[in-house]
Amino acid sequence: MYNFSAGPAQLPLPVLEQAAAELTDWQGSGMSVLEVSHRGKDFVACAADAESAFRRVANVPSNYRILFLAGGATGQFSAIPMNLAARGATAAYLNTGQWSKKAIKEAGRQGVDVRVVADESASAYTTTPEPGSFTVPVDAAYLHYTPNETIGGVEFPYIPDAGDVPLVADFSSTYLSRPIDVERFGVIYGGAQKNLGPAGLAIVVVREDLLGRAREDVPAIWDWKVMAEADSMLNTPPTFSIYLLGLILHWIESTGGLEAMGERNCAKAERLYAAIDASDFYNNPVQARSRSWMNIPFTLADPALDADFLAGADAVGLTNLKGHRSVGGMRASIYNAMPADGVTALIDYMTEFERTRA
Ligand code: PMP
Repeated sequence: MYNFSAGPAQLPLPVLEQAAAELTDWQGSGMSVLEVSHRGKDFVACAADAESAFRRVANVPSNYRILFLAGGATGQFSAIPMNLAARGATAAYLNTGQWSKKAIKEAGRQGVDVRVVADESASAYTTTPEPGSFTVPVDAAYLHYTPNETIGGVEFPYIPDAGDVPLVADFSSTYLSRPIDVERFGVIYGGAQKNLGPAGLAIVVVREDLLGRAREDVPAIWDWKVMAEADSMLNTPPTFSIYLLGLILHWIESTGGLEAMGERNCAKAERLYAAIDASDFYNNPVQARSRSWMNIPFTLADPALDADFLAGADAVGLTNLKGHRSVGGMRASIYNAMPADGVTALIDYMTEFERTRA
């Protein structure tokens, strides 16, 4: 089965097989990893291994902390104003789609003076702003943007220039899909459930000088500094997700790291876009330079065929292709764990469907 879900998403088969094999007896403990104390030496070592693997794979410099937190990406875009902006302080946002909008709304709820300095709603969120076309207020506490919009399938082809203002990025749907220049960012965060494991875990990479700016009344559980000092274990962390993250990071290393991952992901996306563009029957609405490598929405020329397309796809083992309700049509999410063969199978199915049904 090739699973094109936007998340929780397909995971690497070797990782699932390893997790299955050691589920009932983890490291000779006679127990599963689900049942051991997060404060026991075995799990502490497991979490430390995941952290150091993340640092190696993503090339995270030593002046950044890596936090493993519960509450997903939503927890984190909610935590950002509390951690970085006093009530009434200015915070800048780029609005490129549904996930940017949710982060913006949350900042507004927390009494931040939100400045949306670029807004792509006029294109129905099929574009990213031109580099240099927006100005970030110099007194902004941070600039927040979403490098990859999971629903619209829109991705920034560049890292925005925020000057001295800390750049904060929601990497949820593009996390570790290619090399990343961490030093350009103040904070990187994202949920694990697309490229990095099961739901429930958010991975936050935060520059050390940004710790300690939290509001006084922020609950300790949302305070990055408190969590950094507690090695992300102020309370019980999502242990199984952290364990699986470690396995996935080792899988990424064993398959050539992020350079090789980026090349594979780029090639997969290019093939699928080429197939869509070569056809008059399928259409992707996104501006060419802003097309996502990870989430590829497409429509059929006749929406009356959508249900048949989906049923036929399921029948040949291609599942979860239904588009988000706000966009319609189809969406193929092709994260790290989607093999090239899965994309080939999808293209073959699309070609055959067009030939016989269009
Ligand atoms: N940001 C982006 C870009 C996402 O794709 C998602 C989830 N689809 C979220 C945030 C929210 O993540 P979570 O469900 O982990 O809170």
